Amino acid sequence: MKAVVYESFSAPPQIKNVPDPTPETHGVVVKVMATGVCRSDWHGWVGHDPDIQLPHVPGHELAGIVEAVGKDVTQWKVGDRVTVPFVGGCGACPECHSGNHQVCDTQFQPGFTHWGSFAQYVGIHQADINLVALPETLDFATAASLGCRFVTSFRAVVDQGKTSAGQWVAVHGCGGVGLSAIMIANAIGANVVAIDISEEKLELARKLGAVATVNATRVANVAEAVVEITRGGAHVSLDALGHPTTCFNSISNLRKRGKHVQVGLMLADHSTPAIPMSKVIAHELEILGSHGMQAYRYDAMLAMMQSGKLAPDKLIGRTISLEQSIDALMNMDKFEGTGVTVITEF
Ligand SMILES: [Zn+2]
Ligand SMILES: [Zn+2]
Repeated sequence: MKAVVYESFSAPPQIKNVPDPTPETHGVVVKVMATGVCRSDWHGWVGHDPDIQLPHVPGHELAGIVEAVGKDVTQWKVGDRVTVPFVGGCGACPECHSGNHQVCDTQFQPGFTHWGSFAQYVGIHQADINLVALPETLDFATAASLGCRFVTSFRAVVDQGKTSAGQWVAVHGCGGVGLSAIMIANAIGANVVAIDISEEKLELARKLGAVATVNATRVANVAEAVVEITRGGAHVSLDALGHPTTCFNSISNLRKRGKHVQVGLMLADHSTPAIPMSKVIAHELEILGSHGMQAYRYDAMLAMMQSGKLAPDKLIGRTISLEQSIDALMNMDKFEGTGVTVITEF
């Protein structure tokens, strides 16, 4: 099969012919029909992820068709249209037994722990736990765009933030994660304040339901601006970028007993940001993370998509070929463009 392969970190990847994957006894092989290009792939490529062993094939936001099935798989057959969360559970550890596959002790992550989906085929482990069936009406590009940013935002807003109608939600950073969170929080009836440094992204944020926006380059103090708009602070606030400044602002703009959810990754130099801990104590704030979402929780999200409340296809920026993905991957850190880039030609 054709795959995007890199043999050393930060060196340009190449399209190579590599052997087709074969399914594990508990796994399947998926013919990749669409796969998103994500900042996490960029982090992996530059060497920020200790799970990655070289040579490596990136890609974790995939949708496709089951091509081959291992002998112990009972729930899936060749021809099924599927997607996967970016963290797959093992099914056997205490976290998986408690239903928290997203923090499994021995995670399967295509594109990180194993070869990923910048390829014509990808192997998926523990298929009975980790695959999600796609509704017939859902196209592959949209399905692929769910796997990481959208589901992580859904879990952040709904399961971790426990956001309810009428609450104020602040979303710091309006890239793929932030725009997803804005759409989801708006759909469940919250009032969203979007924060970014780009007017173009703030414009898109307003189109997706943000009722107020803050351009961080045009105010003296972002947290104070959000507190003023929300008349006392956000009930739930997300750092959707993953940066010490947005993390600090997100905690600082909470009202008493508010919840900060860290959604953007904090890697390398950013892994131990400053936190206003005195405020966390005095205001009884909660600090939470969101790390993907279990396959079984997709039902709620897919139902909101089918009823028209969520339209993740609006977040797709451009579709590209496997060849073009090399350039897209290497430039993922440059904050260019709006929306999610999806590979749809292999
Ligand atoms: Zn597990
Ligand atoms: Zn991703």
